[in-house]
Amino acid sequence: MSTQPLPSSFIKKASDIASFYGFRHAQSLDRELPKESRLAISGSRDADRVAEACVTCMVSRSQKATAAAAAVAAEKNEKPQQTRAQDAMLCYFTNPTPSEAPHGINPRDVAEFGVSIVGSSGSIGEIVALKTLFSILADSGARVRGVRIGSGGDRDSQMRFSRELSAYLKKRSADIPDCCSKSMAQDPLSMMRCPGEVCSKIIDEGPRAMGFLSEKSRSHFREVLEYLERAGMTYELDERLVHDPRMPRVLFSLDIENEDHLIVGARGGRYDDHLRKLSGRKDATVVRASVFFKKKGLERSAFTYDDREKRAKIYFVKLGLEASLKSLTVLDSLRKARIPVYQSFSADKLGPQLSEAERLKVPYLIIMGQREAMQDAVIVRRVETRSQQMVRLIDLPLYLKAV
Ligand SMILES: [Zn+2]
Repeated sequence: MSTQPLPSSFIKKASDIASFYGFRHAQSLDRELPKESRLAISGSRDADRVAEACVTCMVSRSQKATAAAAAVAAEKNEKPQQTRAQDAMLCYFTNPTPSEAPHGINPRDVAEFGVSIVGSSGSIGEIVALKTLFSILADSGARVRGVRIGSGGDRDSQMRFSRELSAYLKKRSADIPDCCSKSMAQDPLSMMRCPGEVCSKIIDEGPRAMGFLSEKSRSHFREVLEYLERAGMTYELDERLVHDPRMPRVLFSLDIENEDHLIVGARGGRYDDHLRKLSGRKDATVVRASVFFKKKGLERSAFTYDDREKRAKIYFVKLGLEASLKSLTVLDSLRKARIPVYQSFSADKLGPQLSEAERLKVPYLIIMGQREAMQDAVIVRRVETRSQQMVRLIDLPLYLKAV
């Protein structure tokens, strides 16, 4: 017997799990958006539209915050400061497009549950997305055979690689079989997707995408791999993964061992350049991760979920990477205790996180810096009285249940 959950509960469960890592339903953004963007987010349920709406929302949030800060500064006769908005973490479900569905799966046979982190440029974005995928898969009884991961790097890295690959394939053109000889002329990278033996061999003997990473992309990718190791997730490098028309900087794919399982695959990556093109904003960043599950035979009710927002009483403030990494373990224990928190993974500064906590009107803060992370503890602060107490991580769920 397989340990599958009832299909009708899958999306509900998945979004419940995602909510403990800080993801909110895409629809909950609606009231923060200008009217014309509202329809885009709740009407289409398209991953690209969700990401675009997030960018719009963050821009308007940061404008509002900047205006508020300017008013305060004017009163005090001080110079106003630019306020940056926090990242937006959203979940949604949709029908995948052909380029998004896992390889070898008809996109019409599956539905997609996805999470997006818009506004986090650091490698912790990839880790949070992967961590969320792992939790959803583990909860559903799907066994992960392994993580394949690759990096194409930023636009410049990808352009250099693409030029090099084209030049190489031109030299080998006499060896290229019919399956790829035509498409080659239009899109040389398409050959990386060809399962044919001859094509695979030609690609294997050619230039490697990872050899063309810029210094910045290389160090970003190195960080992602380092965190994967520290989080105990085993991975293998897969250079072919990076071929995708949306030019992901990092791409990962999780293979499911139990073939009869409801979930057929999970994948995601960093699509900064794609979102920049869509939104016209040069600083846009997005990490996406999705679970694909069979929809054949599922009742309509399988696609409904509770989109009312779970209000959290706590905002989890993290300072520095050490704390961000350790926070993932903390979130696991809070999830098991069913204690939701708000958080962001983009900020390594205290100010923006505190103003976000203020905006959300939470009565409690959990604060973890480098020192607390080393001591396996956090500071719990009551916003109203500003009284605070050091609490050991092991005692945290019980402590928070009692407040
Ligand atoms: Zn081929």
